[in-house]
Amino acid sequence: MNDDPAEGCLLCGATWGSYSAPVQGRSERFCCDACARFYLLAIEEARRQSGWERVDRLFLDEVHETRGEGWVRHGTERRRILVEGLPDGSRLLSFQFQDPR
Ligand SMILES: [Zn+2]
Repeated sequence: MNDDPAEGCLLCGATWGSYSAPVQGRSERFCCDACARFYLLAIEEARRQSGWERVDRLFLDEVHETRGEGWVRHGTERRRILVEGLPDGSRLLSFQFQDPR
């Protein structure tokens, strides 16, 4: 799969903001600092649970209040995730892969 959204916030795709933060050694663009903080927490948990040495992309395509649904990608492998702890980005309350293997 090769349909990562290229525009906008790395986490949510919003195009209204511009906030840069370092992620895994690269400067990445987010809409706001909350998305940047949440992204870092979420990829750390994704790595811990999956055993991947890195996460190439994490994206939330649906957000409802404090819950989000999306996917995380490592190389060509992509898994659906369910997260909780939005929207201020200070905490990750839960992180689950929806397709346990
Ligand atoms: Zn965002």
